[in-house]
This record gives sequence, C-alpha cells and structure tokens, in this order.
Amino acid sequence: MALVTDGPSSPEPLAPATRLVALGREPASPGAQVGAPLVLTSTYHADGAVSYGRGGNPTWSALEEALGSLEGGDALVLASGMAAVSAAFSLLPHGGTVVVPDAAYNGVMATVGDLEAEGAATVRRVDLTDTAAVVAALEGADLLWLESPTNPLLEVAEVATLAAAARERGVLTVVDNTFATPLLQRPLEDGADVVVHSVTKYLAGHSDVLLGAVVTAPTEAGRALHDRLHRYRRLRGAIAGPMESWLALRGMRTLHLRLERACASAVELARRLEGHPAVTRVRYPGFGAIVSIEVVGGADGAERVSAATRLWVHATSLGGVESLLERRKRQPDEPLKVPDELLRLSVGVEDVDDLWRDLAAALEHAAG
Ligand code: PLP
Repeated sequence: MALVTDGPSSPEPLAPATRLVALGREPASPGAQVGAPLVLTSTYHADGAVSYGRGGNPTWSALEEALGSLEGGDALVLASGMAAVSAAFSLLPHGGTVVVPDAAYNGVMATVGDLEAEGAATVRRVDLTDTAAVVAALEGADLLWLESPTNPLLEVAEVATLAAAARERGVLTVVDNTFATPLLQRPLEDGADVVVHSVTKYLAGHSDVLLGAVVTAPTEAGRALHDRLHRYRRLRGAIAGPMESWLALRGMRTLHLRLERACASAVELARRLEGHPAVTRVRYPGFGAIVSIEVVGGADGAERVSAATRLWVHATSLGGVESLLERRKRQPDEPLKVPDELLRLSVGVEDVDDLWRDLAAALEHAAG
C-alpha cells in the first residue's frame, strides 16, 4: 500500500510499530473496509496477474507486505513453520553439505537427520556459540543453518560474523528468526540470505493458527532465491490458508505491544528465578520472552512443576499471549544436549506478579 510518508517528501521511514499496524491494508477509498481483505478463492478470472489459488492470494500478499517490510526483504507465507523450513532446505543441492547447530528446534534437527540418513546431505553439527568452530565447518559447505536464540537452550550466534564468513566461502546463510522476531533481530541486515519464521509463534501470537514464512533480501541474488522459493511453494503445494493468513496479520498488528510486555516480564522472571532454591540453572540471553530453567529432582521434578501450575499452561509451543511451560525432553526428537530437567517457559502477557506467584508455588510444590 502507499503510505503517507512514502515518496520524495517522506521525512522519515515509518517505525516498525507503525508498519505493523498500517501495512497490508487496501488503498483507502470511500466506503472500503479498513482492514486487509480475507479472500477465499481457488481460482481467479483469467488474464490477471495470478490465475490460480496456489500461485497467489491477496490475503497472503497483505501478510507478506507487513512481514517483508519488518524483516527488510521479500516474504513468502507457507503452511507452517516446518513448511518454511522445508522450503529453505530445498535450496540445499542434493548431496550438499549443511552446517547446523548441535541443538536447535527438534523439527529441524530431525529434518537434517533424515536428509543424512537418506544420503541426501552431509550434516556438520556445531556448537554455534563457538564462532571459530562454525567458521571452520563452513569450508566446502553449501548451507549454514542458524537459529538464534536456539530452541530451547537459548544459545546465541554471532549472526553478522558468521553470515560474512559464509558469504566469503559461497555458503548460503539461513536464519530461523522465530524466537527474536524482526523487532529484536533482522538477520537480512546482518548479511543472511534467507530468514525463516514459524509465524505460528510470536507473529500470529494467539496460539490459534499454524503458519510459516521465508524472507529473502531485496538484492539481485535475494530475488533469485525468492523466485526459487516461490516456485517451490507453487509446485510442492504447501500453501497457507487465507483464513490463517488473515488471523496472523491481525495478530501481528499488536506484535510490538505483546512482545514489549512479554520481554519485560521475562527479564523480571529470569531475575527472580535466579534466586529460587528449586532452580539449578536459568538460561536467559538478555532479550526475548523465552526463559529456560533446570530444576531440582531431574525429569520427575520438572514434570511435577509442569503439573502443578494453574495459570501457566502445560503445553508445547510458545509465543502466544498466554504463558506456557513444557519439559522439552518430552519431545521425541529433542537433541541430546538438552537436559532432562529443562523446562522451557514461554512468557505471555499476563501480570508478572501473578505469573511469579503461580510458578514459585509450583516450584515449591515440586521441590517437596
Ligand atoms: N522454528 C522454530 C524455532 C520453532 O520453535 C518451531 C516450532 O516450534 C518451528 C520452526 C516450526 O514451526 P511450526 O510449528 O509452525 O511448523
């Protein structure tokens, strides 16, 4: 859409908070709806830019406009975060070499494990906090997969340094930016080639839709990647539902408000958890709204905490308005490096003192 500050007279580019609210709307005209349209169609009248629903949809485009602008690139929405992960892995040549963290989202770890088992890829697993080791692993590789902060260990990569090292060696860099969101980290500006999102999490933000996206840089090389990913989406067919896209865009309108509250509460909860006798380790990278803790009593202790909260919801996933907690080793593909007694806390937007009282009571109960 054309915004009031676009064009030569624009004093300043709009701030992310404003773009979150304003992008993806239809051009203003008397009597038109204010919000983005929800377009439900499988086919279009002939001779337009798009002829069939697998090729494009105006509701996708609205969401892509907002997300692309925030990330500083061109976005493509897909059916889930894992559909976006698969689309990004389609850029790896058959038999190619991928460098991945030794612990990241279990769906990604399982995907590379399967590629390796099928002989479709060579996989190099690295400690992504060891920048020199990651750089060494890039020699002769095709793709560098970063997730920062990682799920659920919250390890942070030096994205700009690693993306530069990868570029020098002709290696593509993909960054899963689900945990940070484009409000806290913009990997394309740091030199990454592709950003991946589970839109399901913070962007949509209400635990009601599954959706994913890939975003590429607004450069010639980036546009070539975008074309390949667009073709992948159209031919593989892992397309987003228009309704889910519409809900995600509606959720994104308040991303800045939700994230601000959730991050402030995460900082405070991480601080209070540090002193708790039932907590042996707090992992918090200093930004974001996920806190991982290790608790006394091993896996059983962590399970007792999960079962004892009343306000915190015992459920997988993250990034919604409600606070969730889960012992991650419940998940079958969780990496070995993740401790059995680790609980991932996704801090929502409730009152922080209510969250603390509920969590502290559950921790005391579990410690017996
Ligand atoms: N990337 C990360 C970091 C995730 O945490 C997840 C899901 O938890 C995904 C990707 C996959 O997203 P989805 O569940 O939307 O397929």
